[in-house]
Amino acid sequence: MAVALITGGSRGIGAAVARRLADEGHDVAITYASNAVAATEVLADVELRGRNAIAIRGDVAHEAHVIEAFDQTTTELGLPTIIVNNAGVLDTQGPLASFTAERIQRICDVNVVGAMLVAREAVRRLSTRLGGPGGVIVNVSSAAARFGSPNEYVDYAATKGAIDTLTVGLATETAREGIRVSAVRPGLIDTDIHASGGMPDRIERLKDRIPQGRGGTVDEVAALICWLASDDASYTTGAIVDVAGGR
Ligand code: NAP
Repeated sequence: MAVALITGGSRGIGAAVARRLADEGHDVAITYASNAVAATEVLADVELRGRNAIAIRGDVAHEAHVIEAFDQTTTELGLPTIIVNNAGVLDTQGPLASFTAERIQRICDVNVVGAMLVAREAVRRLSTRLGGPGGVIVNVSSAAARFGSPNEYVDYAATKGAIDTLTVGLATETAREGIRVSAVRPGLIDTDIHASGGMPDRIERLKDRIPQGRGGTVDEVAALICWLASDDASYTTGAIVDVAGGR
């Protein structure tokens, strides 16, 4: 059994991944931005499943926080060999013309710079070429990378396009270094993130555009992430898999 590090594991998709990886017998470190209460609940859920868990507060956009998350996980649980690059943010809906530079910068810092720092730190510690044991990185992209989210948040959608490109490039770069890198592209999944965009009922409004006629659950996304992270996916790298109800 392995140690997993999940960024943004206190709520939503990341929390569901933490629970499922614990069910599969892994110890789990989660990072979170500020919601210590939610993080504590996830820790309790993991421990109920008989696994060890830690929660680390930090911003994935800050290099020092990312390094500290890997260091603390390694010290307290062991070297994480399953990395779920999940932390991500969006902002209120609107056309690009209405966005401030600060908003665009923040979305890019968290969703792109953060994900790259986490992936870089993982490769530095896991690459067999650098003396590591190998491992797996699962990036959380979005179906927004395919649609571009016009009049909602093209900044967010563009950061997810970057995640897809990172996935393909890094998978190729590390394929002979014992590291697999894949990504999931969730569609409309029932989490708090839609309220961050100012539209908590977004799924209800848009569900008729989804071929399956409904939004997805965090557990449906977690199942795919955990499969990609598992040895069952040993010949899968550079894959970008949609979990979006056919949309
Ligand atoms: P969520 O419910 O809003 O949860 C976000 C998680 O990320 C929380 O644990 C939050 O911590 C953490 N976080 C936010 N900013 C952070 C930062 N700067 N550093 C570290 N952690 C940070 O979001 P979600 O819907 O589960 O989304 C998870 C991922 O799936 C994101 O990458 C998102 O883009 C992607 N996604 C979601 C959907 C969807 O429909 N829900 C669709 C496609 C893709 P706190 O609890 O402390 O705030």
